[in-house]
Amino acid sequence: MAAQVSIVKCPTYDETEVLKELQRSIDLIGGIQSIVKKGDRVLLKPNLLYGKAPEKAVTTHPSIIRGILQIIKEAGGSPILGDSPGLGSVIAVAEKAGIKKVADAMGCPVIEFNRPVLPGERKGTIFKNIEIDRAVLEADVIINLPKWKTHAQMFLTLGVKNLFGCVPGPRKALWHLKAGEDRDLFARVLVDIYQLIQPSLTILDGIVGMEGNGPNSGKPIPLGLILAGRDPLCLDQIVCDLLGISRRFLLTNRVAFEQGLGRDEIVTVGERLEDVKIAHFKLPNLIRVDWYLPGFIRKALKNALSSKPVIKEEICKQCNQCATLCPPEALKRNEKGLVFDYGRCIRCFCCQEICPEGAITIRQGWALKLKSKVNA
Ligand code: SF4
Ligand code: SF4
Repeated sequence: MAAQVSIVKCPTYDETEVLKELQRSIDLIGGIQSIVKKGDRVLLKPNLLYGKAPEKAVTTHPSIIRGILQIIKEAGGSPILGDSPGLGSVIAVAEKAGIKKVADAMGCPVIEFNRPVLPGERKGTIFKNIEIDRAVLEADVIINLPKWKTHAQMFLTLGVKNLFGCVPGPRKALWHLKAGEDRDLFARVLVDIYQLIQPSLTILDGIVGMEGNGPNSGKPIPLGLILAGRDPLCLDQIVCDLLGISRRFLLTNRVAFEQGLGRDEIVTVGERLEDVKIAHFKLPNLIRVDWYLPGFIRKALKNALSSKPVIKEEICKQCNQCATLCPPEALKRNEKGLVFDYGRCIRCFCCQEICPEGAITIRQGWALKLKSKVNA
């Protein structure tokens, strides 16, 4: 049977409107009763990357959380919400994002993912030792609640990428280190995690998304959509269709297709895809080009062929959070300020992802600039 992804319009975060459209998006793919049974422990996994106000579009909006909590409670489920933010405790991040208040009011505990366990059943293709949080294994139902955002390294962060937050805190940096500069390899990590977790429902907050310099410092952009599906991989494919880009453009999709996981046959329900296509969505700059060059030439031309993070000194508040988080310790402070060691830098862009001031931007090497101009 073809997978279904629902698309509904929702131009506002008004709680009543969001609840109505959330309900509709779930009804269109079979209804909540087909997912949550009375007494089920339901784990919600929103995007809680960083503690910013809801209007910054960094985190899943509290109206989405309130709406889904109400729907779960009406179905008799017992919800719990968890994540492992890029920086800071989950409580602090959820408070700033307006989610803690909503969760408290709805009687939903908010937990930090800090209890890593190796799942008994290994479903990954390459990485057999990915630890995820115990709460994920203990849940009867997992509901994935990503935000529609750009992502410097992976281009977009949607349903599959959002599950990376189920890996407890410092272990996330370890996986960045293991994948190194190889984006394909990191995409394989993400697809392996997706296979381990397999959420029962994914709802994408695309009411206001983020374009450009995501996932933390991009520009909020009204998209007016909620998408829902049982399989986040299928949902991610439909987002590519909506943006008018090849499904294989998204690395996690490409890797999944190579592993025979993607489904070409996906039926959209609700709005017609042709009627809600998104024009002029600004994706992040291309960050790498190889031109199939031999490894030693690629190494020698690393800075020309790839993008690199740079600091806007005039904005930087010297908080040092980027240096603390950098997986290979490629960012050091000296008497002149913060300095990148681009030889060590694996281009994971975690520093850009977590900078609270948006002081880290991505600069393309000359060969990349050339390619971008040719493609323009
Ligand atoms: S995280 Fe941002 S503001 Fe803080 S030191 Fe790094 S660049 Fe500067
Ligand atoms: S400097 Fe930034 S992009 Fe480079 S490895 Fe460190 S965190 Fe990743």
